[in-house]
Amino acid sequence: MWLPEVAGPVELDDGEHRRLMRFLGAQSQREVIRARNRSLRSMKAQAELGRYLGGRPPYGYMLVDAGPHPNRADARWGRRAWKLAPDPRTAPHVKWMFARRVEGMSVAGIARALNERGVPCPSAVDPGRNRHRAGECWGAPTVKTILENPRYTGRQVWNRMANDRDDVDLRTGRPGQYPNLPEDWAISLDVVHTPLVGMRDFTDAQKVRARRPNGDGGERRYLLAGLVVCGVCDRRMDSHWVHGRPGYRCRHGHTSARPCPPDGPTLLYWREDRLLEHIALVAVPDRPVCADTGGAIVASWVEGTRVICGRDGVEIRDDRDECGPWAPVGGWRRRTTA
Ligand SMILES: [Zn+2]
Repeated sequence: MWLPEVAGPVELDDGEHRRLMRFLGAQSQREVIRARNRSLRSMKAQAELGRYLGGRPPYGYMLVDAGPHPNRADARWGRRAWKLAPDPRTAPHVKWMFARRVEGMSVAGIARALNERGVPCPSAVDPGRNRHRAGECWGAPTVKTILENPRYTGRQVWNRMANDRDDVDLRTGRPGQYPNLPEDWAISLDVVHTPLVGMRDFTDAQKVRARRPNGDGGERRYLLAGLVVCGVCDRRMDSHWVHGRPGYRCRHGHTSARPCPPDGPTLLYWREDRLLEHIALVAVPDRPVCADTGGAIVASWVEGTRVICGRDGVEIRDDRDECGPWAPVGGWRRRTTA
């Protein structure tokens, strides 16, 4: 190898040459970092304006012409601007995935259902996307990536992932990627392309992720945690898992160290599914609740209220100013226990 700096071939045995090589290496690395930061800043600013910055459109979208390029110099030589538009072949699947997730379906369950229905996965739709993955079917990581992408809310997002040059994929030669913290994301303030999910459903879908995992790798999920109040003693009821099912219980202030006195009120326990049935009856008496109505939907009707549990009925107290989708109901609506 020849270098002008040493006016001849590099002798790696020569200490002077080795020092020079190290110096030149550090120099060019600094230059590369500086140039990258410059372009990062400008891309971040452009993303905040909602401009499409290139790259493959996310699954569910395709690129359409958006007129002449906003940069006049670029427009003069015929450069066009592009924007994302829903791809009629794949957009319905993205909407379907968010809807199932908001209802509480697991990411693996969504992937399984997509495979069962023969829905083409991202690398099947766009074989150039992940060449080494072509022909694979839906997996949980792919579904998770889609559900976490805020671009589906119609906003332009950039800088969600950073390249990790110390972790290069040996098959593709591409650097590995790791997620940036949300505060480093550049998100356009306005909706710049057609959303496939509303902001509210998108944030709800992110909350589903916050389920508490239990020791055996399964998930324990309480739809009504924090909303359920004991009608006997007015305390908040504890989430309590029994026989593989979520439920709520109140020991009326007694702990296992201080057992209930024999003449005191007996422990109050509600299975979550039974509680949801009662809530559906009280919250929307006229609306038939079929077996397909997910528990998460019923739970969303009472979000922000208090569900007071008696021994054989529930009452919903809504202290909010604005009315919910249903009229507040006073009094008890009783149902015989099954
Ligand atoms: Zn109690």
